[in-house]
Amino acid sequence: MTLRDSYLPYGKQWIEEDDIEAVLQVLKSDFLTTGPTVACFEQKVAKYVGAKYAVAFSNGTAALHGACFAAGIGEGDEVITTPITFAASANCVRYVGGTVVFADIKEDTYNIDPLEIEKKITPNTKAIIPVHFTGQPVQLDEIHTIAKRHNLIVIEDAAHALGAEYKGQKIGALSDMTMFSFHPVKHITTGEGGIITTNSKKYYEKLLQFRGHGITRNPKALTENHGPWYYDMELLGYNYRMTDLQAALGCSQIKKIDGFVKRRKEIVVAYNDALCDFLEVQTPYQYLETDSSWHLYVLKLQLDKLTVSRKEVFEELHKLNIGVNVHYIPVHTLSYYQELGYKKGSLPKAEQLYEEIISLPLYPLMQDQDIQDVIEAVKLVIKRGRK
Ligand SMILES: *Cc1c(COP(=O)(O)O)cnc(C)c1O
Repeated sequence: MTLRDSYLPYGKQWIEEDDIEAVLQVLKSDFLTTGPTVACFEQKVAKYVGAKYAVAFSNGTAALHGACFAAGIGEGDEVITTPITFAASANCVRYVGGTVVFADIKEDTYNIDPLEIEKKITPNTKAIIPVHFTGQPVQLDEIHTIAKRHNLIVIEDAAHALGAEYKGQKIGALSDMTMFSFHPVKHITTGEGGIITTNSKKYYEKLLQFRGHGITRNPKALTENHGPWYYDMELLGYNYRMTDLQAALGCSQIKKIDGFVKRRKEIVVAYNDALCDFLEVQTPYQYLETDSSWHLYVLKLQLDKLTVSRKEVFEELHKLNIGVNVHYIPVHTLSYYQELGYKKGSLPKAEQLYEEIISLPLYPLMQDQDIQDVIEAVKLVIKRGRK
């Protein structure tokens, strides 16, 4: 049986004529790489999330690298993050020579558990990188309390959470630094791209310098000055610049963010309504004090009520052209981290969750018929696999 002729991916960008026109305008201008459009995009993102400053990067991972550098994380420092995330949330700590410490998740939201964070703190702990998994904000109040008590820096990985709110406030200005990604499956896209938002001038200046080779042209910072051409390189930075081409797309896309989030919510409501009565699956849980921006719809299978495995459910849905995915393989179980000595079995809740989840297609460009196709396919596979 085929429900549909075309394959439905789990996530996808939405590019319209005005987006294309915005990029073309920059192509015809004097600046291709970091110029006035990057600055304009930074302002727009900062304003949207309510932060004082924003620094755009070539991608979200580079932005996280910059944040770890600005936070002063280095050899001997431990940074706590979740295993249920994309590898970049942990890798950024390794880039600056730090040690990643994983804390297990909560069973309801699948976000990092503040109680588990507390257990992992040592005198070497320097920072926490909480991830707003699927777009649902972590328990920021609890995390900030822990951070304050132990003098830790908080860098939010908000790659999933542009437009999300915690207790009525937009994610992006609530911790020391916050990272957003503009990869095409995220809420808005710049092709590749990322940004750090912050209220700290100190972090802002470090991030700018780190993004541009560690170079400064500020006359006050120069120890020597041979003339107007002179610059100094004070630290080992990178070329992590965003281009004006990317930023033009970003400026055009961010105008549409509220509509994008609204459509994501409609799709989530449709999925919840259709699937909440099935005992074989668990629909996503949401705290009342948070407003998720719904990057992902993670459906948990109640495997004890099914005769089929997660793999079979995944394969059956793909046969029906429904491009479900799995988010995520716990980071500490990946080979690189295994070789560093992280143990399977050490984060039981995350490892258990991984066995049970599939992500249903979720992106604003989905048509009503696409949503119905996903629902019908999931129902069909569940009914077939019922005990
Ligand atoms: C997408 C993503 C990143 C990295 O973003 P890129 O722009 O792809 O480098 C980091 N963390 C999480 C949780 C992500 O989903």
